[in-house]
Amino acid sequence: MSGLLAARGHRLTDERDEADLWLLNSCTVKNPAEDHFRNMVEEGLIRGKKVVAAGCVSQGKPSSDYLKGLSIIGVKQIDRVVEVVEETLQGNSVRLLGGTRKDPGVPLDMPKVRRNPLIEILAINSGCLNRCTYCKTKFARGDLVSYPPDQIVARAKQSFAEGVVEIWLTSEDTGAYGRDIDTTLPELLWQLVDVIPDGCRLRLGMTNPPYMMDHLDEIARVLVHPRVYAFLHVPVQSGSNAVLRDMRREYNVDDFSRVVSILRRKVPGISIATDIICGFPTETEEDFEETLALCRKYNFPTLFINQFFPRPGTPAARMKRLPTQEVKRRSRLLSQFFQSYSPFDNRVGQKYTVLVTETAHDDKHYVGHNQFYEQVLVPRDVSLMGKLVDVEIVSTCKFSMTGKPVNTSVPQRPTAVGPLRKGQVSGMRRRSKPVANAVSWWYRLSVLVLALAIGIRIIQVVYMQFFSHSGSRKDSVDTEGGLQHGGTQAFSAGENIF
Ligand code: SF4
Repeated sequence: MSGLLAARGHRLTDERDEADLWLLNSCTVKNPAEDHFRNMVEEGLIRGKKVVAAGCVSQGKPSSDYLKGLSIIGVKQIDRVVEVVEETLQGNSVRLLGGTRKDPGVPLDMPKVRRNPLIEILAINSGCLNRCTYCKTKFARGDLVSYPPDQIVARAKQSFAEGVVEIWLTSEDTGAYGRDIDTTLPELLWQLVDVIPDGCRLRLGMTNPPYMMDHLDEIARVLVHPRVYAFLHVPVQSGSNAVLRDMRREYNVDDFSRVVSILRRKVPGISIATDIICGFPTETEEDFEETLALCRKYNFPTLFINQFFPRPGTPAARMKRLPTQEVKRRSRLLSQFFQSYSPFDNRVGQKYTVLVTETAHDDKHYVGHNQFYEQVLVPRDVSLMGKLVDVEIVSTCKFSMTGKPVNTSVPQRPTAVGPLRKGQVSGMRRRSKPVANAVSWWYRLSVLVLALAIGIRIIQVVYMQFFSHSGSRKDSVDTEGGLQHGGTQAFSAGENIF
């Protein structure tokens, strides 16, 4: 949306007071995010700003009291953001909430402003094939609609041509990619690998177990490729089959374990992250113990722990809740376990090549990632940003390692092209291309027509020559007369010959 607005000439700002209009995007995955969105809408109105609501929350419940009278842009309509914003600036209220089920919603070649000019976040599909009982995202995003591989590959190529060094593939479930268009995730990944420049990398996004199980061997082959991070986010949500069934997750604990075990065997060193929901309404103490046991078995380096919260309108919201204190106790126990181990013990002295792409929260370091997408902090030195840097690990903590650049190695930029400036609109160069093509098409057509006209003229002359020698005197005079005295008319007559 930022890209379209910037391309149209609107000025984007992060300063709330400066803005004439607040465009607020929303996420319905967690309740705090929804509360925050509501607070922002109310704050914008109190400050006298025009407000446009976007994203899953407003799509899922446009009739909410706090959205009354506001412009809303649906998740499948964001390519019309300029229209909505401009109408709203004129004092009108516009609501675009439609979109067909077969439409992923947002053309991939839309102009965009990357938050980080070194990283392209590329949606490969919208929606999913599941109906998890706790999920509200499904209400807004609907069923699976995949982007065609050629569009995704074209966007990737364009991104690298604009100096991007890392691509993140995202969606509600990347594992389901392609099931609606007769292709598969591995087929897409191999096509992408072909266009990733050496030294640049691809990170695969969240992948639920059910659909990737059909392609595990092939996914493993992709994940060992040097241009792909050996990293996967596979949310298990619970270690209890009974709870997984009540969540309607479409897999069991053995399925998940098979995914983890096969990937760990076939992709040495792979990082696997997972999610757990603590305190699902039907989760017994024994079920929770099974979840703890699963986490103990795999010691996941990254574990996202969420307390169950009923999302209005979902089947799980109609189930009897566990006491809040019990939900908190379980998430605390799991957090304590997670904090009890460190995935980076014994890494001091190890050497890695890291791709540096971000600034750390402490503002003193940059963040790079090694081949396993493990976080390595390096000194904040501008000459390292966007480059492959050889480092030696000097210290570690629970979530990251700190590396010292190796003196004998020169940091390398993976591509010759520099990134766009922060805030610069991506995709503008691409948009001009069809115009160039159109011009050359017309040029080619004109040349063809001219060549045909010359050809016809030659035939005409030969024809006249023939009849001037073999036909009657009258015929010859008539034809020549036409040519000599009526040039323009003669060309009209030429068209008639056709
Ligand atoms: S896979 Fe489940 S949790 Fe994820 S978006 Fe689909 S329904 Fe929601």
